[in-house]
Amino acid sequence: MKDAALKPALALGPAPRAGVLLPFPLPGPYDYKLPSGMEVSRGLLVTAPLGPRESLGVVWGEAEGAVGDNRLRLAVPLEGEPVLPADLCDFVDWVADYTLTPKGLVLAMALRSRQALMAESPRTAYALGPALPAKLTLPRRRIADLMKDGLVRSAASIAEEANVGAGVVRGLIAAGALVPVAMPEFAPVPRPDADFARAVLSLDQEAAARSLKAQIASRRFAVSLLDGVTGSGKTETYFEAVAEALRQNRQVLILLPEIALTVQFLDRFSERFGVRPAEWHSDLSQRERRRIWRAVLRGEARVVVGARSALFLPFAELGLVVVDEEHEQAYKQEEGPIYHARDMAVVRARLAKCPVVLASATPSLESYVNATGGRYAHLKLPRRHNNATMPEVRLVDLTRERGEPGTFLSPPLRDALARTLGAGEQAMLFLNRRGYAPLTLCEACGHKMTCPHCAAWLVEHRYRSRLICHHCGFDTAVPAHCPQCATPSSLIACGPGVERVAEEFALAFPTARVAIASSDTLQGPDETQAAIRAMNKRETDVLIGTQIVAKGHHFPQLTLVGVVDADLGGSDGDLRARERTFQLLHQVSGRAGRADKPGLVLIQTRNPKDAVMQALVMSDRDAFYAQERLMRERAQAPPFGRLAAIILSGVQGDAVREAGRLLARSAPAARGVKVWGPTPAFYALLRGQTRERLLVQAERSVDIQAYLRTWLGRVHLANAVRLSLDIDPVSFF
Ligand code: ADP
Ligand code: ZN
Repeated sequence: MKDAALKPALALGPAPRAGVLLPFPLPGPYDYKLPSGMEVSRGLLVTAPLGPRESLGVVWGEAEGAVGDNRLRLAVPLEGEPVLPADLCDFVDWVADYTLTPKGLVLAMALRSRQALMAESPRTAYALGPALPAKLTLPRRRIADLMKDGLVRSAASIAEEANVGAGVVRGLIAAGALVPVAMPEFAPVPRPDADFARAVLSLDQEAAARSLKAQIASRRFAVSLLDGVTGSGKTETYFEAVAEALRQNRQVLILLPEIALTVQFLDRFSERFGVRPAEWHSDLSQRERRRIWRAVLRGEARVVVGARSALFLPFAELGLVVVDEEHEQAYKQEEGPIYHARDMAVVRARLAKCPVVLASATPSLESYVNATGGRYAHLKLPRRHNNATMPEVRLVDLTRERGEPGTFLSPPLRDALARTLGAGEQAMLFLNRRGYAPLTLCEACGHKMTCPHCAAWLVEHRYRSRLICHHCGFDTAVPAHCPQCATPSSLIACGPGVERVAEEFALAFPTARVAIASSDTLQGPDETQAAIRAMNKRETDVLIGTQIVAKGHHFPQLTLVGVVDADLGGSDGDLRARERTFQLLHQVSGRAGRADKPGLVLIQTRNPKDAVMQALVMSDRDAFYAQERLMRERAQAPPFGRLAAIILSGVQGDAVREAGRLLARSAPAARGVKVWGPTPAFYALLRGQTRERLLVQAERSVDIQAYLRTWLGRVHLANAVRLSLDIDPVSFF
């Protein structure tokens, strides 16, 4: 990443005018008048007229234009004159410049809760009053008994908790037996207690924690890679850093790659700190969003656990940022402003002048190179907690060990499952494929069932008896006849998905309790959570899952992990495909044998000699990284070079392809820059849109943003074509 010059936080003084940034796709601030005599500073939240409407806006800097005051419209500060922290404003500028996104759109991410700044509307609650009649009907008696504890409650919760009708509550209010009490609109956010339940750290953990604590105390920007094997206590270790930040009266942001991981995490956090942290992710209600946003701005929320978008919360006293499972691709935001939350977390910390911790057992090659090269502190936890041993990893060569046709669990894997279940232990089967079968094919003519809107196969979901497109959600019943040759009952399922593995497992082990956890939009996050909880409570013997089960979870009784198909997604020419396969398989292996019983991992593959498979068997992560690093260095691929992707899309295929050619022709020649394409994207048709891609490859020293600005500034594309830019792309679809 390139360092951009930072603007100092502006104190504009008693300025009658200022540049105000509005949360819309606008390239920069607009000039407005402000009430005269006001002290105006950067970050001040205002309402500003925009056309016929009023919009929320933020004072961004000095006014630009020479337009007379009488032509400017008036922006009015919000009540209480709230101000966005200056480093958040700087962050918005930085992200916009780096990702080439209009500033207003990035600001919109920081103002995700539009109503957050509206005045609070107090609620009315009720307490037991003095005028309680001596003789009470039974329902009234129940209310009186309930309210004797002295707590105040809303009318609705009194009715619910006392199990009486709303009319009974109204009657007691009218009689003066229940008296109204004004309550703030939002329940306060509880404060975590740094010393609630401190862990006794191992020597390695202690050393890492000490280093982090020193960074927090010195209040300087520093990046650490917390590089610890699975089960080594990375969470426990950075919790000590969190505790230190709390003691120093600083706020903490912890990023997790997926909401699905948060439930276990919240419980763990509250065991350590006494209360749950504030949460921030896309599943929050508007009200909750409003509550947390203002609590963060006012410094009442001390620790926030969230997904990518939590980076844009208005922390006033940020003292520590943690990015857990930092290698996760889920940190890349692929829609709207395209950005990598791990990289932006580092920027956020730099602007806030605080330390940031990147934690992983399988770091991204980028972070690994930075840590081994000395740019980041490299904090290592080489051993599992409590002397738990690392699991033994064995390969099952599928070219030799074949079961019956149409089955996917090889004899060695079945034997291992039988032994594990016999010993009363738990197992996990991992397959990164949702549904029943990835492909449905006509036996008679070979016709493949594909999505009408996407260049992709339809995936059979047998529980719902549907064929579904995983890209656009299109779904259809499995037809009785082949749509091409009309042969009846000719469609067959090809290849396994988790549902099919579950079916095969249940046939082989009819008494075992089995659950599926899949990152499926069809199977909601609640069901996934339920499957994970059941596994924790040992109500499940075997968990069959997609990548959702690979990460972060700690199941003490899990001793066997079976990888059903390790060759999936290994060789699609994507520069990170090998790294990702390694990370995923290593992570999933790391679920085995985390407590006192040793773990076994069986990996089914058709390529047992492949370097990724060998690194897994030999448990030689660093050898794999060394090789990967060399390959990237030779190819001048990231982090040794820069990449940016240009994606063109639109419903008119010809217009999109023409735009691609036009762009390629107008690419300026520049030293150290190569432009590839246009080529049809991997999914050349997605949700009805034709897609073409160009890739810019540049040497590290090149300012790739400046190059793109110059280039794209010269070209006018047809309106029917949408252009999106992906700086540092991680997916090449
Ligand atoms: P990682 O995140 O590195 O995979 P965790 O932090 O999940 O590892 O730790 C694995 C398990 O070991 C967890 O159950 C955790 O509570 C426990 N553990 C790790 N370190 C300690 C410690 N110092 N004291 C008590 N329990 C610990
Ligand atoms: Zn589709």
